[in-house]
Amino acid sequence: MSRLYVVGTPIGNLSDLSPRAAATLGQADFIAAEDTRVTVKLLNHLGLKKPMVSYYEHNRRDRGSQILARIQDGETCALVSDAGMPAISDPGEELVRLCRDSGVPVEVVPGPSALVAALAASGLPAGRFCFEGFLSINKNKRRDRLQELKTETRTMIFYEAPHKLLATLKDFHKAFGDRTIGIARELTKIHEEVVITTLSEAAKRYEESPPKGEFVLILPGAAPEKETSVGMEDAAALAAEFMKEGYSSSEAAKKAARETGRPKSEIYRMLVGRSGD
Ligand code: SAM
Repeated sequence: MSRLYVVGTPIGNLSDLSPRAAATLGQADFIAAEDTRVTVKLLNHLGLKKPMVSYYEHNRRDRGSQILARIQDGETCALVSDAGMPAISDPGEELVRLCRDSGVPVEVVPGPSALVAALAASGLPAGRFCFEGFLSINKNKRRDRLQELKTETRTMIFYEAPHKLLATLKDFHKAFGDRTIGIARELTKIHEEVVITTLSEAAKRYEESPPKGEFVLILPGAAPEKETSVGMEDAAALAAEFMKEGYSSSEAAKKAARETGRPKSEIYRMLVGRSGD
């Protein structure tokens, strides 16, 4: 039956193409490819010859409706991007939506994706994570997004081009301080490398030798705010006890904040209010 297949392709090593992906490409009536010159190499590797149409960022509107019309006329289409999963920082999302909205069946043939491969290879916390893709190249948007992410507690995953890597590491340092960072480079290729370091060390490293290849950046999230069941009144009372022991009001507030997880400034305010009673 006619449908759209969303097919994952290798992110470097061609042996990562699944048998099901190869069969789907072989059986499709035509292939919608981000760049037909890239996909033809994959087809040559598989010994396949297939009609292809290009489907990329700047022709996706017109091309999407043409692809949809062909599927509705009974053809089967396999959608691929240059590497990894279509729709993940790649064209595809709109075509999938168009098909779904039009009642055309969509099936996925999952394959590698750089973000999942990088996270799994890093050993950094993988229980909860968010994918940020590429940061905006607009300076203000980029800075604003990083500010928003300052308190993100999940592991964050970014894609970055080599020529922008150093600037991004410096922007991370400015926004997050000198956090740990995982840098996954050229995954599944000859020069595969995963480095776990700090933002300052990473910047030093790439200042000395400019980055080459494809990169995924993995940044552990901010430490979660301490959960506390102690109320503000009790925190202030504890600080008052510390003052009786001889601590200054500021020291007492700091010590009580550390022990209760309540904000120091609030405790201090209540403490000073109390002593004025
Ligand atoms: N659709 C792809 C996926 O599922 O991962 C992502 C495509 S996006 C246009 C390309 C970016 O993915 C690169 O700039 C790099 O950040 C990352 N990437 C792709 N292949 C990679 C690899 N082999 N090693 C490290 N990063 C890779």
